[in-house]
Amino acid sequence: MLHAEIIAIGSEMLTPYRTDTNSLWLTERLNSIGIEVKFKSVVGDDESILEEAIRDAMKRSEIIISTGGLGPTEDDITKKVFSRVLQRRMVLNDAVLAKIQARFARRDMKMPEINSRQALIPDRATALENNNGTAPGILMTDNKCIFVLLPGPPREMKPMFEEQVMPKLRERAGDIVLLRRQLSIFGLTESGVDERAAPIYKTYKNPTTTILFGKGQIELHLTAQAKTEAEANKLLDELSGKLEIVLGDNVFSLRNQELEEVVGELLSFKQYTLATAESCTGGLLAGRITEVPGSSEYFKEGVIAYANEAKVDLLGVPNRLIEKHGAVSPEVAEAMAIGIRRRARSTIGLGITGIAGPGGGSDEKPVGLVYIGLADEIQSSSRKFMFPGDRQFIRTLAVNAALDMIRRRIR
Ligand code: ATP
Ligand code: MG
Repeated sequence: MLHAEIIAIGSEMLTPYRTDTNSLWLTERLNSIGIEVKFKSVVGDDESILEEAIRDAMKRSEIIISTGGLGPTEDDITKKVFSRVLQRRMVLNDAVLAKIQARFARRDMKMPEINSRQALIPDRATALENNNGTAPGILMTDNKCIFVLLPGPPREMKPMFEEQVMPKLRERAGDIVLLRRQLSIFGLTESGVDERAAPIYKTYKNPTTTILFGKGQIELHLTAQAKTEAEANKLLDELSGKLEIVLGDNVFSLRNQELEEVVGELLSFKQYTLATAESCTGGLLAGRITEVPGSSEYFKEGVIAYANEAKVDLLGVPNRLIEKHGAVSPEVAEAMAIGIRRRARSTIGLGITGIAGPGGGSDEKPVGLVYIGLADEIQSSSRKFMFPGDRQFIRTLAVNAALDMIRRRIR
């Protein structure tokens, strides 16, 4: 299997204001033709550090891809440094120069003299045409490595790589496909997932499995390598099938979907409608649900009932319930769900009430306590949650838990 590495060149990506996203896109494209990315780095516009990075890369990788620093200005050092390391002269390429001149002429501009630098191409290298900018890319090989130098702006880099580099790399990589599948899991702890899944996935070298955690959600990423897509899919089917058995309906998607998308699909499929009443999440749940295109088909109404009076006036929660149990209680969560369902005439109603903090907690009702109520035509109920973290985290976890309750109810 071929190994690639990526060098993102540009000092701006060493500041908090810009991120190297090119390497993420490139990694996905390389993986799709069975080339694994083993190393990547971000290097500022500094000749000696870049030189060191290139020399290091040549020791470990067969394919070295850089992005950025191909422009005409002084701080664009990429071609110069690569040429120095590979001991190649730079030669003025007339065809490239003519193209750059023509590009300026088309816009009725005269080419600034410094742009002619962009027509300097290292000896024995191929210039890659840039149809979306002036800086050409460079493709060259020495006895061990393939070097691909791409421009920094994504809209120039992507089509250049796709059209002019992918076919060459595909040929070089031969018949290997790398396919991924993601099992998205909700409702189990990290150790709970690993306890069930590890004894199974550890027995497989291919596919490989990595486990990712975040916001109460867990993802198992399976990667299979094979000669054909069908073969890779077969490997994935076998392992993911076994994992699904032990993880049960905690697995909510095999297609990298968000909970709200899965909920949306289930609602559409059953032709159910949904309405939500939120207190501590202040509309975040309705926001997530309506982020999904086409959600108007099933989402009827969302009410933010923050004050007690709003719960009474808008949702018909009985005053005495609030007086007796408090606004944060299973009884009120359930009454909110029933109330919004009646108000919106929806199939399902959901209510959230809780204490997101940092203030407002007590020994009896601490910060992080959230009740979520669910009502449909047959029954209503509520669940109690104790979420960890700060205000923002608690609110996010509450929304995820609510979406998961809806999902399980429909299933
Ligand atoms: P130009 O001719 O536009 O100067 P260049 O090849 O010299 O092209 P850079 O000057 O290094 O490219 O970068 C231009 C812009 O491209 C940056 O400001 C940034 O917005 C974007 N860019 C560069 N590198 C990356 C990267 N790794 N990920 C995402 N965006 C990038
Ligand atoms: Mg530049």
